[in-house]
Amino acid sequence: MYRSYAEMPKIELPGNLEVKISDSTLRDGSQMPGIVLKKTQKLKIFEFLHEMGIEKLECFVFNERDRSLVRDMLDCNYDHPDITGWARANVADIDANLSMEGINEVGILMSISDTHIFDKLGLKDREQARDKYTEALQYAVDHGLKVRCHLEDITRADIPNFVIPLVKELLSIAPDAIFRICDTLNYGVPFEETPLPFSIPKIVRAFKEIGAEDLEMHVHDDFGLGVANTLAGYWHGANWSSLTFMGIGERAGNTELEKILTFLFCRVKGFEKYNPAPVTELTRYLEHELAFRLPRNKAIVGENIFAHESGIHTDGVLKNPFTYEPFPPEVVGGQRVLLVGDSSGREVVRYKMQEVLNELLGVEVNLRKNDRRIKMICNDIHKLYDEEARTSSVSDDELREYAIKYFLTSEEAFPPWIAHTRYE
Ligand SMILES: [Zn+2]
Repeated sequence: MYRSYAEMPKIELPGNLEVKISDSTLRDGSQMPGIVLKKTQKLKIFEFLHEMGIEKLECFVFNERDRSLVRDMLDCNYDHPDITGWARANVADIDANLSMEGINEVGILMSISDTHIFDKLGLKDREQARDKYTEALQYAVDHGLKVRCHLEDITRADIPNFVIPLVKELLSIAPDAIFRICDTLNYGVPFEETPLPFSIPKIVRAFKEIGAEDLEMHVHDDFGLGVANTLAGYWHGANWSSLTFMGIGERAGNTELEKILTFLFCRVKGFEKYNPAPVTELTRYLEHELAFRLPRNKAIVGENIFAHESGIHTDGVLKNPFTYEPFPPEVVGGQRVLLVGDSSGREVVRYKMQEVLNELLGVEVNLRKNDRRIKMICNDIHKLYDEEARTSSVSDDELREYAIKYFLTSEEAFPPWIAHTRYE
């Protein structure tokens, strides 16, 4: 049915909803334990987000370090991402945003689960929480700020009895507010049938029913449901998602920006506005700068995403990359890597030998899989693994040594471009 990337049909977002991405790498991401982002690194992330086409980012504006970063970002004069602020629900935090020239929108933290209201904030009852949030919102609106309401821990909150009445009040103060659906501990699930407060589709629908139009998914990844819940939000009418690059963030982190970006670009109709090409470069940059290693098998940007070792896979990819590559490596600025290891077959050894000999001899060499020397090299390689002392792939340097041994210096050596006539 499908035999090339061009033939793959794209899926559609229901209702042709125009959806956007808001980055939180510089805010939620930089709160990750053990990660300290320097200003130069934050500016680099900002540049990359601009190249990718990300519409918005949020950051803190509380100390001079944060404020000088915001000034430097604003000095770039980019039309995207929009730089927006963040505040707790108090006057001092909102004032800090108001005093920052160029910041016109603020997201206000409104913790709405009982455990956050009573245990974390130490409030007496839900009404106190409601008053605190409506007053903070009124203050921000009265001072001319655009607003987002960050409804923290919504997937463990009392939605019909507390959240919906609260959101109605917030809407009466700011009808164009963006409501951030914060799946803070990732108790949300992407299923329609699950009851509230867990069902992301049901939450989104409840907001739409009372006239909240702009909804933003902000999903942490504690149960590994970050991407699924974010997409469930989009699919049921949320038009924003708040994401962090490489999923950096507290505990298990946040939904990964590169995953949502690449998924929308490759799989969903109408997302040519995004450019995932810089994601691999930004990943390698951050891994290097932060001494932070992603698992090699991480989706989109892990080192192995275009690496092939087993005989069946390398053979398939050499015939048609569509067989075992989800999208062409250049979509995310990546590179295909063929590895020789314990599960490799003769085809990849032939291919790698050909590459090595081309490089060593400076002429185009064509080898066949049945070449006797290829078989001998494969035997040597398998012996390495049979002894179980070897746990890594065979490096390019080692392959060069095999090439020299079997093709250039031993009694087996024979000019490879005529070799198969003699040795087959
Ligand atoms: Zn968060």
